[in-house]
Amino acid sequence: MKKTMTFPKFDAELNTDCCDPYNNAELTLTLRLGFRQINPAGTTNAGTHPDAGGQPHKIIRWNPAAWSSWKARFVSSAQSFWTGKFWLINDSLSFPHNNRGVIYFPNVWCRLKLIGNEATVPGNHRTIDVVRLDPSENWFGSHATLYDSKDMDSIHKKTTSTGNKVMQRAHVHEVGHLLGLNHVDVGKPHCPASGDTNAYACYGVSDHDMQSLMGAGMQLRPEHAYPWRESLRHFALEDMSSRAQSALRSFSHARSLLGTVITSLSSVWPAKMRRHYPRTEAEMKAGTPASTVRPQRRGI
Ligand SMILES: [Zn+2]
Repeated sequence: MKKTMTFPKFDAELNTDCCDPYNNAELTLTLRLGFRQINPAGTTNAGTHPDAGGQPHKIIRWNPAAWSSWKARFVSSAQSFWTGKFWLINDSLSFPHNNRGVIYFPNVWCRLKLIGNEATVPGNHRTIDVVRLDPSENWFGSHATLYDSKDMDSIHKKTTSTGNKVMQRAHVHEVGHLLGLNHVDVGKPHCPASGDTNAYACYGVSDHDMQSLMGAGMQLRPEHAYPWRESLRHFALEDMSSRAQSALRSFSHARSLLGTVITSLSSVWPAKMRRHYPRTEAEMKAGTPASTVRPQRRGI
């Protein structure tokens, strides 16, 4: 089964056709970005443009070669950073599949597909302006809808209490925002969700927090699987309601479904950053945790 759902920030496709005793389901989020050149005024080749903080920076005119190469690098680099990094563990008896009489419950592997369009192409999830920085400019404050040509460079953003530089490549952080993630410290007393969530403290105060990708560093963490987990809930709910229709045909099926419904309502789909193998129905019912070790003696 391949099913697609559209959400405001991305499209999502769940593929269970790839499931077998060793392979999990795949959830692919597709994000279509519409890039738009910001060029110096008129026909001049050089000018200035304000960054996120209102600070003017020197910019130069895009040419076709620089533009297409920047877009291609952005898309391939950010996609490979994010795709295939999380597995959501099936704790709701969702998506059962029958393999030679044995029921398996897959976990869900999280993938990302980025598409870099021109802003004029219809159907983009977000339009992003991009400045081409003059070679003399080393830094530009990007934000969610304004990027710069050096966003793929590693930049020193914070320093830990022990004097280590915390470096970040802005484009992968910005893709986190496009997927719906907030800065690491949003919701803490020094960065209330109702205040300016782009304030310096929101990028992490403790050494641990500032190293997060949604802080000032490059560390991808299980909580960054949030966009996949939230969209997966919709697929899991749909799976449950379609199984309800067939189960309600008999009392015993309805009883077993009731257990599934209760399990689903309390499901978490915890995120892991290593591949975990599918579990059998017996393993699920016995509460056997999903394993990173390839199981033996499965019937294929
Ligand atoms: Zn940010």
